[in-house]
Amino acid sequence: MLTEFRNEPFTDYSQKANEDAMRAAIKKVRSEFGKTYPLIIDGKEIKTGDLMVSTNPGDPKEIVGKFSKATVQEAEMAMEAAGKAFETWKLVPPHERARYLFKAAAIMRRRKHELSALLCLEIGKSWAEADGDTAEAIDFCEFYGREMMRLSQPQPLTAHAGEENELSYIPMGIGLVIPPWNFPLAILVGMTTAAIVSGNSVLVKPSSETPMIAYTFCKIMEETGLPAGVLNFVPGPGSSVGDYLVQHKKTRFIAFTGSKEVGLRINELAAKPQAGQLWIKRVVAEMGGKDSIVVDKEADLDSAADGIVAAAFGFQGQKCSACSRAIVVADVYDEMVKKIKERTDKLVVGSADERDINMGPVASKSAYESILSYIEVGKNEGKLTSGGGAVEGKDGFFIKPTVISDVAPDARISQEEIFGPVLAVIKAKDWTDALDIANNTEFGLTGAVYSKNRAHIEQARRDFHVGNLYLNRKCTGALVGVHPFGGFNMSGTDSKAGGKDYLLLFMQGKSVSERF
Ligand code: NAP
Repeated sequence: MLTEFRNEPFTDYSQKANEDAMRAAIKKVRSEFGKTYPLIIDGKEIKTGDLMVSTNPGDPKEIVGKFSKATVQEAEMAMEAAGKAFETWKLVPPHERARYLFKAAAIMRRRKHELSALLCLEIGKSWAEADGDTAEAIDFCEFYGREMMRLSQPQPLTAHAGEENELSYIPMGIGLVIPPWNFPLAILVGMTTAAIVSGNSVLVKPSSETPMIAYTFCKIMEETGLPAGVLNFVPGPGSSVGDYLVQHKKTRFIAFTGSKEVGLRINELAAKPQAGQLWIKRVVAEMGGKDSIVVDKEADLDSAADGIVAAAFGFQGQKCSACSRAIVVADVYDEMVKKIKERTDKLVVGSADERDINMGPVASKSAYESILSYIEVGKNEGKLTSGGGAVEGKDGFFIKPTVISDVAPDARISQEEIFGPVLAVIKAKDWTDALDIANNTEFGLTGAVYSKNRAHIEQARRDFHVGNLYLNRKCTGALVGVHPFGGFNMSGTDSKAGGKDYLLLFMQGKSVSERF
């Protein structure tokens, strides 16, 4: 019998055996760097002349891999292959489809450190952050496999005399999966396996920053014995191959996670029916955030400062759920700024292949330049309290954890998603004012409050308008099955990844009624 779903435990790297295993994995992964990788279409490796290069953001001279870019021609081939595969894959019983995911989870568990090492080197995650990403990917496979088995059972309906009534969930068709670079394994795996286990075939267009980790996962799915054409790997620029596939008449649904700008564009393009298109495309779009932690005058201020600093600077602030605003009630404002500064100044920035760092490099040159320009904006919008620029003397994209206090609620750094290690601290008059400020952006992804006042906690529970609200804990670190994840407003379609409603986004309900 299949055991109940349980979250994958995190690795304790203070244990010598784990540390040694991770160091060995980093060495192994590195020894394979610099190779050229193909597209995977219908189970075949296809090379194109035009290559994109993935590099280590901690040392951009280091080439992780070179990847063939799909053009419209390969995109069309992949569409054809996915269409053919769908005709047989949709008939595979749900329990059997689930086993491909359980097998993938088992392979990933065996190769855990290798996957985490890739996450350190291709995108700059610290060991702990990389381990969390890998564990979440394993969780998605285990969770969605079980969910598909549950949803394939007869669904409860109201009895009606003289009829047999049935509701079942059937697959939709060909899906386009477009993940971001910031959880290049977990989010990619979550969206892809949800689509596949629901009986669809997919084209995966990975982020151009992280094709290596995406390719590695596609090879793992191949190793599970997944039939050819069910998962096709088509890296290439979002602006060309991405646009083409979004508009394609055979695309039935799009599972996207990324920025608000790209999500809205995809939503708009997908809404326009193409000649010969038979359906309204379904778009699952999880987008950006501008997440706040709100601190009350009656609160455990040390715990709040710990939570703020961990959520603001974990993975260099490059999580959609990262705390980019600390909103503090006036009575404890000065004390909180001091506590945040003390903790921030102790953070160690360094190469992600080392164990004892708190922060690695930011993802890319463009991210680096954009974050540094926001820091300059912030210096004019508030008081520089910690950090304030690049880490000197390093070749990679290293930025100091930066805190800017006395920021107005409507300042640019209070409103725009910076997606880097920059925290704005905002003073609120009282609790109601603090919650009003917390709700004053166009986003609504995560948020947290620290308070010991029951009435204030209840007020936040009701009025703080975010998809994932945390009370007396930080706003990052959602676990599959425990904290179904997705945001309100411009943060997306609130898909609740890792929750029990998620797979329904990849299926359609068919109701059948027979009168005897
Ligand atoms: P992004 O620039 O929007 O890119 C996301 C993906 O979309 C990439 O694979 C990208 O490919 C592709 N893309 C770009 N233009 C496209 C187009 N015209 N058509 C189709 N695909 C296109 O976002 P990112 O920088 O990778 O990720 C950071 C963003 O993701 C942040 O805003 C963050 O908040 C958000 N995020 C949200 C969640 C959530 O659950 N709400 C989770 C994680 C991240 P290329 O790389 O080739 O451009």
